[in-house]
Amino acid sequence: MRKTSVPVLPLTGGCQCGRIRYRLNARPLVFYLCHCTECQRHTSSAFGESLRFRREDLDVDPGLVSMSRMSESGKLRHGWFCPDCGVRIWHGTEGSPEFNIKAGTLDDTSWLVPAGHIWCGSKQPFIHIADDELSYDAQPTDGYEAMKLRWQAMTG
Ligand SMILES: [Zn+2]
Ligand SMILES: [Zn+2]
Repeated sequence: MRKTSVPVLPLTGGCQCGRIRYRLNARPLVFYLCHCTECQRHTSSAFGESLRFRREDLDVDPGLVSMSRMSESGKLRHGWFCPDCGVRIWHGTEGSPEFNIKAGTLDDTSWLVPAGHIWCGSKQPFIHIADDELSYDAQPTDGYEAMKLRWQAMTG
């Protein structure tokens, strides 16, 4: 298992044009990669990077716009993004107190090591996940508990 250290808080980040900035004031709950086809589409890339946090721990500049859609797991999902440059900052599921920052928006991404991979059933074939990594074919059914425990062990 690869180890890493969470930088000194707050973690800061923002969109591409600079209009929206945010500060995360508590340690993230977990960091993982999502290989679902919706993450592939909204990142226009191979996977989404999710840094999970509690809403009350995030200060974000006003002005984000949102869109909603039904997820592959049948829940209403909301995404918030900059109205000027279109970069998605964070998203979450209806009724959940936990949300995900799109981790590529952090000012410092050098310390990120994923604790797991979800929706590997639709991952791009050129992505190779090591045997000792935690991976799920679809949505974890344990509420991300195993992944959170691994994240705690990884980040000390
Ligand atoms: Zn922007
Ligand atoms: Zn996804």
